[in-house]
Amino acid sequence: MRQSLKNAKRLVIKVGTSSLIHPNGTINLSAVDELAFVLTDLKNQGKEVILVSSGAIGVGMHQLNLAKRPTSIPEQQAVAAVGQAALMNIYAQRFMSYSQQTAQILLTRDVIEYPESRKNVINTLEQLLDMGIIPIINENDTVAIDELDHSTKFGDNDQLSAIVSQLIQSEVLIMLSDIDGFYSANPTTNPSATLYSQIHEINDELMAQGTGPGSAFGTGGMSSKLKAAKRIFSFDSSMVLANGKRPKIIFDILNGDDIGTFFKKEEN
Ligand code: ADP
Repeated sequence: MRQSLKNAKRLVIKVGTSSLIHPNGTINLSAVDELAFVLTDLKNQGKEVILVSSGAIGVGMHQLNLAKRPTSIPEQQAVAAVGQAALMNIYAQRFMSYSQQTAQILLTRDVIEYPESRKNVINTLEQLLDMGIIPIINENDTVAIDELDHSTKFGDNDQLSAIVSQLIQSEVLIMLSDIDGFYSANPTTNPSATLYSQIHEINDELMAQGTGPGSAFGTGGMSSKLKAAKRIFSFDSSMVLANGKRPKIIFDILNGDDIGTFFKKEEN
């Protein structure tokens, strides 16, 4: 089934904060650079690529020299606003070194509930893709606070990336996380957990295996990824959850290699 990935033309790539920020809080420049290289090359091959990137608060904390994430929502929003600009600056620079133009899109998840907004978002994304530009999307943290955790965790974009995939009818959503894929239990606490190569149905048993706290930097953990997969199934698309340590892994995923966890509804 993974062979269908070879022909995927429209892709959404989602990177979590843990793929972009080192554990000590500084920016993982090699990851950002590799991402720019890989996505530009895919676009040059004739694919249409959209990046959904977290990391605004992480970069903002670094910019403002904050050792600890602030606790209040307005402070987090302020840090995210600083970080979003800095993050885009880094992306724009790195992509430009491969002569690739990027664009920033900030969205709230409710765009799909308002036909007019929905149409405008689709039009903008379609136009950017048509112009060969790589859109870089993040949740608009100033407007939407549901992704900002009230206490210790970083914002994430699992649902937003699935919504974007649905809006532009992408053939695959590649989610890069800090883990190799979806396991039968949390592998960081359960060493006997085994990796699923493929998942064809999101049922309660699976949901139970994905509950529990996420990584230090993430928000959603696995239940949020499974929820995203459910949306992906709803329009018969596919999703791959894989480790974002080496973004070049995207080439192998699109080659149909057995990497990470492949989510696709069983074909009749
Ligand atoms: P990211 O922010 O990189 O997208 P998250 O922190 O949201 O990632 O989720 C990844 C984390 O989820 C893993 O590091 C792991 O600790 C935790 N986890 C919980 N249950 C599972 C499971 N069944 N399979 C894989 N990871 C799991």
